[in-house]
Amino acid sequence: MNIVVAMINGLGQLALVAVFFGMVQRLDCRPGVRACLLGVIFGLGAIFAMMTPSPVKPGVLIDARAVVIGLSAAFVGLPAVLISGAMAAVYRLWIGGSGTPYGLMAIALAGIAGLAWRRFVPPERQETVPSLLLLAVMIACHSVVVLHPTGDGLPDGFLAVYFPSIWATCLAGTLTLGWMMRREIGMIHRERSLRGDALVDPLTGLGNRRAVDHWLDVNGFRRGAGEFSVILVDIDHFKSVNDRFGHHVGDAVLQRLGAVMRQSVRDVDLVARYGGEEFLILLPAADAARAQTIAERIRQAIAAEQVSADGVAVRVSASFGIADSWGHDDRVELVAAADAALYRAKRNGRDRVEVAPPREARVPFARQSGPEADQAGRSSPAEAAAR
Ligand code: GH3
Ligand code: MG
Ligand code: MG
Repeated sequence: MNIVVAMINGLGQLALVAVFFGMVQRLDCRPGVRACLLGVIFGLGAIFAMMTPSPVKPGVLIDARAVVIGLSAAFVGLPAVLISGAMAAVYRLWIGGSGTPYGLMAIALAGIAGLAWRRFVPPERQETVPSLLLLAVMIACHSVVVLHPTGDGLPDGFLAVYFPSIWATCLAGTLTLGWMMRREIGMIHRERSLRGDALVDPLTGLGNRRAVDHWLDVNGFRRGAGEFSVILVDIDHFKSVNDRFGHHVGDAVLQRLGAVMRQSVRDVDLVARYGGEEFLILLPAADAARAQTIAERIRQAIAAEQVSADGVAVRVSASFGIADSWGHDDRVELVAAADAALYRAKRNGRDRVEVAPPREARVPFARQSGPEADQAGRSSPAEAAAR
């Protein structure tokens, strides 16, 4: 009965490790930092395992530290196992006793077993039950350390109880924790892919309006971010393309023009379908004058493009409105300024580029406080470049 309770207790601890593993994997931080944090989590897991060993029989205590250390190596890698292994080793040294060298060797062997598994089992096979079984067996092999002749000798009947117990612990623990961690990894991949889908326009494969909002929140109006420009593009008389040739031809035009825009800018620029037949381009580190040059280039490329679809060849033009982030307080105001410029381009005859008039210099709201705030006022990017 005691063993069953201890086993359930041990599995509960492993489940907690898996929960923290999932939480840390979801953190938005650098991979190296994440690996170190995971190392600490596994290290704590191994220490807790050592604190609560299962009393298999008087004089025989079994714990799941090897499972935790082996899995930190197998699922996270070298930096994590170095940290978790060091933490477990320090705690084992602190416990002391004649079994200390064997305890330390067991930690090292379990880590090596996990690293070897990670190195030789291909990633796509790592979540299969046979692979986890192999990992369990490799981790359980650390138990051979006990065969090393000891000065003190082993209690009577120790090996007959020790081997089945440690192998059962390794098998049950590795399969349980390994499966839970694999599940977490699968869920994280699915979450990431859903989040990616949520930011993509399915017709053009470009970013969508959400991607624009996300970019503006994360990169645009962020403290310390540089100035950037927005180009709003609206295809001229697009309704008549649909009316004359059909919606599917209109769709092909949107796809092709999206590709033309994407090819006309740098990788760091964001091209998004902002709605219907409107696109929005974000140009980091570009003022309105630079954006105007780029917009003019795109305007000419669109006008020269002949889209062939469903046996017809369609040519369209587009109008452009530009605003740069200089002097704007937030994204709504900035996009509204570009929209007003676009409206002027439509009114002035379409197939043209218009730029929002420069705003009075004032400190953008995201930088009003804090060390970066320039109390003396700021000059526009163009003025800064002229200095
Ligand atoms: P303007 O030059 O003033 O911009 O005229 P326009 O015809 O382009 O503008 P309007 O707003 O009148 O029409 C936009 C059209 O874009 C109407 C709508 O059917 C079409 N549209 C919006 N989304 C899609 C789409 O996903 N596929 C297709 N084929 N057409 C779309
Ligand atoms: Mg429109
Ligand atoms: Mg239009």
